[in-house]
Amino acid sequence: MSGRGDEKRHGTSQCQQALTSDLAPHTSQMRGKRRKVGSEKARRLGRLRNLMERQNLDALLVTNPDNRRYISGFTGEGLLLITRDDTCLVTDGRYATQAGLEAPDWRALPSKTLSSKALAEVCREQHLTRIGFEKNDVTYQQFEKFQADFSGLELRPVLGLVESLRLIKDVDEIAMIQEAGVVAGAAFYYAIGHICSGQTEREIASRIDYFLRSRGDGPPAFETIVAAGERGAMPHGRATPDKIRSGQMVVIDFGACCQGYMSDITRTVCIGRFDALQRQVYGVVLEAQLSALDHVRPGVIASQVDEVARQVITGAGFGDYFTHALGHGVGLNIHEAPRLAPKQEIALEAGMVTTVEPGVYIPGWGGVRIEDTVLVTETGCEVLTPVAKDFMVL
Ligand code: ZN
Ligand code: ZN
Repeated sequence: MSGRGDEKRHGTSQCQQALTSDLAPHTSQMRGKRRKVGSEKARRLGRLRNLMERQNLDALLVTNPDNRRYISGFTGEGLLLITRDDTCLVTDGRYATQAGLEAPDWRALPSKTLSSKALAEVCREQHLTRIGFEKNDVTYQQFEKFQADFSGLELRPVLGLVESLRLIKDVDEIAMIQEAGVVAGAAFYYAIGHICSGQTEREIASRIDYFLRSRGDGPPAFETIVAAGERGAMPHGRATPDKIRSGQMVVIDFGACCQGYMSDITRTVCIGRFDALQRQVYGVVLEAQLSALDHVRPGVIASQVDEVARQVITGAGFGDYFTHALGHGVGLNIHEAPRLAPKQEIALEAGMVTTVEPGVYIPGWGGVRIEDTVLVTETGCEVLTPVAKDFMVL
């Protein structure tokens, strides 16, 4: 896509104008969709209790911050205890008011040191003996503390209990990720409306971050990647003070955050002019991405989707340069299940959200990646990052 007027390149007032006018439709669309996460909370708790029962647990300690937010809505520091008919939250004075606002139905147990002692007391009072804890989240030091606090009770390590629920997004979550996708899409158009040779990677990244902060409701989903020319061969190249030049390709990868839920998008653009190899590689990556998107639907095995994209890139002779997995789940965390990668045998299900992001990275030359965040639907998938994928020369 070309067509960026010089008049848009400079000046704060024009930038401000672009920010206001380019985004008005997106903003009003988002307001219509904006809703409070909450209507699904009771259902999440019910499903978690079913899983606990199946694992023969009387109670579950939740320490992982994303899991804590998912189950309770509380975004501060603290510990959760879920029993068959009680929900308790330990936090300290910094978060007392916040806990009341975010998790009003949870019984708050104040603790100066975020200790699990009070939760152990609850278990003893209610004669609960088999207490699960998240073994992939607890440090050895914290485990020792739990052992002391829960002495006489049985601590059972569990893996991926809440995460297995988070795998399938409910309507509240999908609405948030959709909103984060719309904000990211608008941020991209805002940023490319101001790109020109001579700007630094950092300036471009800062413009995107400014937009994400002012239009989303949180910080960027991760450190925005802007990698020009040879640096594009690093899939996670950090934005540097280097100036972009005519004839370079620039990989731009970022995400927005809405009420904790994230989006993830990459586009690769050319500055000023391009050569045959740049055009060729872009075409191969785009074909790989579109072919993979065509295969995303319920019942398809994650590794098969990866394989579809890999075959396109390999068939064009660039297989050795596609050096990462095709995609990753997105939600409260920017990298969560499911992974679209070789050997991933999980079958896709409606409600999963994943990225599809093939790339070709040639050392000494540069890179091309095209990434969208997509929702698996009953019949296929819906792209949640609404940005064109034509070969763009700015
Ligand atoms: Zn990305
Ligand atoms: Zn990604």
